[in-house]
Amino acid sequence: MPADGGGRGLSALAAETVMTGEAPQTVEDEIRRRIETGGPMPFEAYMAACIGAAEAGYYQTRDPFGEAGDFVTAPEISGMFGEMCGLYLAHMYELSGKPTHAVVAELGPGRGTLMRDMRHTWSALVPELAAAPVHLVETSPVLRTIQKDTIGESAPVTWHANTNELTAATPGPLFGIANEFFDALPAAQLVWQDGSWHRRMVGLVDDRIGFVDGGAAIDDPGLPNAPQDGMVAELCPEADLVMVALARSVAARGGAMLVIDYGRNGNPGDSVQAVAAHRPVDLFHQPGQADLSHWVDFAALRRAAETQGARLIGPVTQGRFLMRIGLAMRAEQAGAHASPEERRALLAAIDRLTSPAQMGEVFKVALLVSAGSGQPPGFETESS
Ligand code: SAH
Repeated sequence: MPADGGGRGLSALAAETVMTGEAPQTVEDEIRRRIETGGPMPFEAYMAACIGAAEAGYYQTRDPFGEAGDFVTAPEISGMFGEMCGLYLAHMYELSGKPTHAVVAELGPGRGTLMRDMRHTWSALVPELAAAPVHLVETSPVLRTIQKDTIGESAPVTWHANTNELTAATPGPLFGIANEFFDALPAAQLVWQDGSWHRRMVGLVDDRIGFVDGGAAIDDPGLPNAPQDGMVAELCPEADLVMVALARSVAARGGAMLVIDYGRNGNPGDSVQAVAAHRPVDLFHQPGQADLSHWVDFAALRRAAETQGARLIGPVTQGRFLMRIGLAMRAEQAGAHASPEERRALLAAIDRLTSPAQMGEVFKVALLVSAGSGQPPGFETESS
């Protein structure tokens, strides 16, 4: 999540060390040990170790969301976000002819707020979706526990460690969402130098963790054309693999998955950032204590979807998408019987979700469907 100002929060300090064996082992100790024994590691391995390390990685050890944590996500800003996404998926479910054996899926559900709010919407409008089994992809044991509490006992919830496991376990069409999931998957960084792309590795420079040159790398269709010396570009092979797994499922079985994230319709350049307590920090400052994320390359995701015969429609900006599918009307309804203070809160939430100065422009929305399904609402005038 992009930084939005503020001080360093308690959550970032909560898990400074955990015990592994006899000695306290921080993520930084572990990274130093790996570099000392194996030499420099690719940047994506560093990023994976910082946020995903099984014992002490960023997401494994904390609840990072909210004003007291490190960042705030759309579902945590207002329940209207989940309602609108829920309505959208309900519409796609109806357009698909309400297939039996539909499966509800979410990648990286955080606190479970979005799934709870979507299910709440479905319970009144599409009981079939409200009754569908819920499958979540989540690696963090701390967040799995919170998700269980938030979503409650009413749904049969199954957790998976990765998307391949999810699609292998779910024979029906997937209807679901990934909000701020792809940005957390480890990104590779490359620098254009002397006529070729060089991998950025992480090693020890004067005993400090930092970038070192990994030598020339192979080219990739996702890398920018006509680069200049020193230009940085990113690739996210894991994001491509996740999209391939989802696309294979959707192409074969139908369904619709919303992908919402900050990003671009092309290579994001040098976008990886570390955020702790709503503030940008150095990428190598206290590894494992900050959220590392990157901008999502929606063009790369689209290419990955197309390899499986599926379509990734969009991206459109979050602001335009939410307005086109009726967020303002929904807020008017909600505000009709509200107090002036509640109305002000609703307007503030809409502004935060949709205004270009806040989340409206940087965040993009794309929709994964099987090939040839026309142009669904919210994406009308955009080319795919
Ligand atoms: N969708 C939520 C949370 C976004 S944060 C929201 O909008 O509030 C990213 C989420 O993805 C967290 O739940 C995190 O634990 C999970 N996550 C990060 N990397 C992951 C990975 N490699 N595999 C599975 N889940 C991952």
